[in-house]
Amino acid sequence: MNSIADTDNLPNQYMTDSLKAMHKFAETYAKKTNTFFCVDPSVTCVVIKGLSVYKEKYGLPLCPCRNYENEEAELDSTYWLCPCVAMRERRECHCKLFLTSDDREASHNQEIDLQGVLKTL
Ligand code: SF4
Repeated sequence: MNSIADTDNLPNQYMTDSLKAMHKFAETYAKKTNTFFCVDPSVTCVVIKGLSVYKEKYGLPLCPCRNYENEEAELDSTYWLCPCVAMRERRECHCKLFLTSDDREASHNQEIDLQGVLKTL
């Protein structure tokens, strides 16, 4: 992972709805694609948080594990909107949010405690 979006400038009350939305998205998408969360739940929580920062900032969840020179240009290209093209086409998630069952770091979980995610705020 290169970077995770920064929440320092966003008040927590505005973040909560976005975090809940991305939490729900992550669980739903994992089940839909038969992928699993990481054995280390802190990885999942941090990535969901990073997605929610972009969702709050732009209304769209850019991948939080990359550095962007121009975020607006990335939004226009849509390539790194989650789920990104690599995930949609090949089930490859370099953030380790969605892992296939043969991945050594995959758990058996497609759900994650919302309270744990909220604690990342
Ligand atoms: S699916 Fe793609 S955009 Fe979403 S977290 Fe994984 S690597 Fe990033």
